[in-house]
Amino acid sequence: MIQKPKNLAPANISENAELVLSKRYYRKDSDGNCIETASDLFWRVASAIAEEEKKYAKSNYQPEELAEKFYSVMTNGYFLPNSPTLMNAGSPLGQLSACFVLPVGDSIEEIFDAIKYAAMIHKSGGGTGFSFSNIRSKDSRVGTTGGVASGPVSFLRIFNTATEQIKQGGTRRGANMGILRIDHPDIMEFIRAKEQEGEFVNFNLSVALTEKFMEAVEKGEDYDLIDPHSGAARGTLNAKEVFDILVNKAWISGDPGIVFLDRINRDNPTPQQGEMQSTNPCGEQPLLPYEACNLGSINLSKFVIPNKTSDNKEEAVDWDSLKEIIHLSVRFLDNVIDASKFPLEKIAEKVRTNRKIGLGVMGFADMLFALELPYNSEEALQLAEKIMEFIQTEGHNASRQLAEERGAFPAFSESIYKDGKPLRNATVTTIAPTGTLSIIAGCSSGVEPIFALAFARHVMDGERLVEVNPYFENALKSCDLYTNELMDAVTNVGSIASFDFLPQHIRDTFVTAMDISAEAHLRMQAAFQKYTDNAVSKTVNLPNNATIQDIDRIYRLAYTLGCKGVTVYRDGCKSGQVLNIGSKK
Ligand code: ADP
Repeated sequence: MIQKPKNLAPANISENAELVLSKRYYRKDSDGNCIETASDLFWRVASAIAEEEKKYAKSNYQPEELAEKFYSVMTNGYFLPNSPTLMNAGSPLGQLSACFVLPVGDSIEEIFDAIKYAAMIHKSGGGTGFSFSNIRSKDSRVGTTGGVASGPVSFLRIFNTATEQIKQGGTRRGANMGILRIDHPDIMEFIRAKEQEGEFVNFNLSVALTEKFMEAVEKGEDYDLIDPHSGAARGTLNAKEVFDILVNKAWISGDPGIVFLDRINRDNPTPQQGEMQSTNPCGEQPLLPYEACNLGSINLSKFVIPNKTSDNKEEAVDWDSLKEIIHLSVRFLDNVIDASKFPLEKIAEKVRTNRKIGLGVMGFADMLFALELPYNSEEALQLAEKIMEFIQTEGHNASRQLAEERGAFPAFSESIYKDGKPLRNATVTTIAPTGTLSIIAGCSSGVEPIFALAFARHVMDGERLVEVNPYFENALKSCDLYTNELMDAVTNVGSIASFDFLPQHIRDTFVTAMDISAEAHLRMQAAFQKYTDNAVSKTVNLPNNATIQDIDRIYRLAYTLGCKGVTVYRDGCKSGQVLNIGSKK
């Protein structure tokens, strides 16, 4: 155990961050009282992760020195690891990854094993993804009993109920991804599964689309349904008709989303070890069966050089500091793999074979505010590419350096990287939603535009937080335009798009998710995807009056732009949406 230095600067966190941390992240005594502060938490995490450095004789760092560095990057809000690391590092549970994918086989034993494993993962704060594509279709024969099978969707219901019942041991309620291939005979039932509100609430559902299917949509052709058990064709459907229904259901409820399976597998770094059939719950992390991945996010808003006035916005980005933080973050995330205790030996084995990590970003919208760049501008897209290219390049450099110190990931010699310089990690970059991390860091989430300039946020167990965007507040104050009346008006509608009385440059810069076209959302996703090893968590927000054709266009454009999947959300289509415009302070 690394001793906490006496002169360590205390963590300085916001009231909102304190609320979130005290609810689920601080360690508690048997009466449920918090027994740590934010500083204690960050030291617990920093020291537990730095402790792993002791294993590696060739490291340039002393563990004590590294612990202080990790503490400093987290408490200064430059980088945060995913929630399970913050919750469990240095504690007996010790499960530190957010993302898991479990196989679901075509037998009762295998199906219930998957439910059990998922329960164990949820208990530790991780999320699980499953492909149900291997389960034989409804009404097909069951050899051992002579009866008929109930099909993937009926089993999906059991997974959902099990998740509901596991109020997780001091962490959070489970999140799941359920995936079915477009050529599974039960695909129509799956597409309609979330038609009724309140069904499968613990699942995000996505249909795995193949390139063959997308071509059939374009040509208006039929395609074959294949029974996974026998491999036999089980009839045909018209691709365009199925696509239309899929789009229609997504318009109604946001589900199902889509993932492009062939594209995901084309980027599979270790194809010899099997095929990727599913992603984690929010879609940003495709994984092999029994694989897990730990994520971490760099807060981009911290890398804007203040008062740097230049037409070239890239000059106002502090690239040197960013590089330093990328290298530290990669080391941190690689150490997390060693520090993590996995709920199943099979998972531990797989994780330690590929050593995938997912370094991404948050605070991108804040960065754009600070640079006065509209999110829906060409320059913002260029900046996104530039930044993510830099993170990917430096992230890979950092992983190569770790490989020199510690060896390549064990499956390196059979990976797609085998002809290059050894890497420590099969994947390095992923863009997570950072739903909670962004509250702790006090920045905008992931690569999303902000949802509203002033809003009420409901987090965990109905808790309500109200926030006015600080960049917006400063910009208004510097022009002497900030008034309480104006803030009330902004809280009511979230956006200033219709406030003609405000200066044009302020209205252009401070755009929200609702002011931006669906295409601009998607182009940003594609810009980040271009330099991301795994995938990008992004929601394409649409106004309530968006049409089915709008969603049709978005799904097709996602395919054309090279995205790995897409999630749409039409405002107001679910009654319990997390972020609400219109709630007053
Ligand atoms: P955080 O900000 O808490 O670190 P993110 O919002 O970035 O988490 O989500 C990252 C991943 O963490 C998700 O894709 C999912 O795999 C997992 N995850 C998120 N929320 C939950 C939850 N409530 N239960 C289980 N896993 C979750």
